Amino acid sequence: MPKVISWRRDIHQHPELSNREVRTAAKVAAPLEKLGLEVRTGIAHTGVVGILTGGKPGPVVALRADMDALPVTEQTGLPFASKVVSEFNGQQTGVMHACGHDAHVAMLMGAAEVLAKQQAELAGTIMFVFQPAEEGPPAGEEGGAKMMLAEGLFANPSPSAIFGLHVWPGESGQLQVKTEGIMAAADSFQITVKGKQVHGSSPWRGIDPINVTGQLINAINLIPARQIDVTKAPAVVSFGQVHGGIRWNIIPDDVKLEGTIRTFDSEMREDLIARMAHTSEHIAKASGAEADFHVHNFAAVTWNDPALTEWAMPSLQWAAGDKGVAAIKPITGAEDFSFYQQQIPGVFFFLGISPEGKPLSEVPPNHSPMFDVNEAALVNGVRALTGLALDYLANPPELNKS
Ligand SMILES: [Zn+2]
Ligand SMILES: [Zn+2]
Repeated sequence: MPKVISWRRDIHQHPELSNREVRTAAKVAAPLEKLGLEVRTGIAHTGVVGILTGGKPGPVVALRADMDALPVTEQTGLPFASKVVSEFNGQQTGVMHACGHDAHVAMLMGAAEVLAKQQAELAGTIMFVFQPAEEGPPAGEEGGAKMMLAEGLFANPSPSAIFGLHVWPGESGQLQVKTEGIMAAADSFQITVKGKQVHGSSPWRGIDPINVTGQLINAINLIPARQIDVTKAPAVVSFGQVHGGIRWNIIPDDVKLEGTIRTFDSEMREDLIARMAHTSEHIAKASGAEADFHVHNFAAVTWNDPALTEWAMPSLQWAAGDKGVAAIKPITGAEDFSFYQQQIPGVFFFLGISPEGKPLSEVPPNHSPMFDVNEAALVNGVRALTGLALDYLANPPELNKS
């Protein structure tokens, strides 16, 4: 644990933005090589994969940590706080591990160290995945889990299951999990309402896209409330941007809208998107306008395979000890870990890292400039990753035997 904590502080003090994790990757690769793992670097720009082949044959299991920091100016006042300044989408910004990915990297390095010492006795292979750009690549770039997969991450060797965890405010050392959809699929949508520009004094001579936009926002917000089976899973639609017009007495040609869609079920997601497109088209048509509707997918549903989640419970309970494993509600945030789970069964879970005795409402959330990790909790994360890998090799679940 002293090593895990010093790795975490070093990475914390030297955070790097998505797709720029050059130093972090080097800091990960060197110890893995020293442990005798097969180390692959430069995957999806800066990704690092360590492969630990046991002394005996058996299944392949993957463990994943994300490495990137955020364009946030740190305000924690910690002795190892980040003073790094960098450029993000053309703007100068402070850089901070405000999502705890520094802790994820350190915990997975700790697990690699523990597991490498048992190499001869291991029946199977453990793949350590250090992933760049979980927060999303910079504009105009590819990156993250999707890109690692596209570059053949699971080709050789091919893992049959993957595990990953995230730190967040919660009882220190407690593990938190949910079967099936634990985090939402995240899509952005863009709508352009095309009308016909005209003097504001005579709207009948043109087509007013602003008025259509007003109707459209209400109609789309009513879809989750009136047309979706809310007993099956929640769904969220939020508008984030509306842009149109330049002057008080000009009805503009068009209005552009943007927003996000969060869903926990892929059929529901497709249905909701189809309904949004249909509603946009028809609301616009009713006024003689047109609506262009586009969706971009950022993450799939983080789907915890039910059989694998059930199988993982004893390992998680062992890892959490008296801190325990808690069941949690679905989270409307998203994770690109979901792309791994589209290819193989996986379980994603949370580790509570709140300071001892502080009410949850007073703990700065992830992405806050005050976000901090209670390092005393990290041992349970290392135990969880190590325990899951060891148990998987010793006793793989039925789902892989079919
Ligand atoms: Zn984050
Ligand atoms: Zn994160």
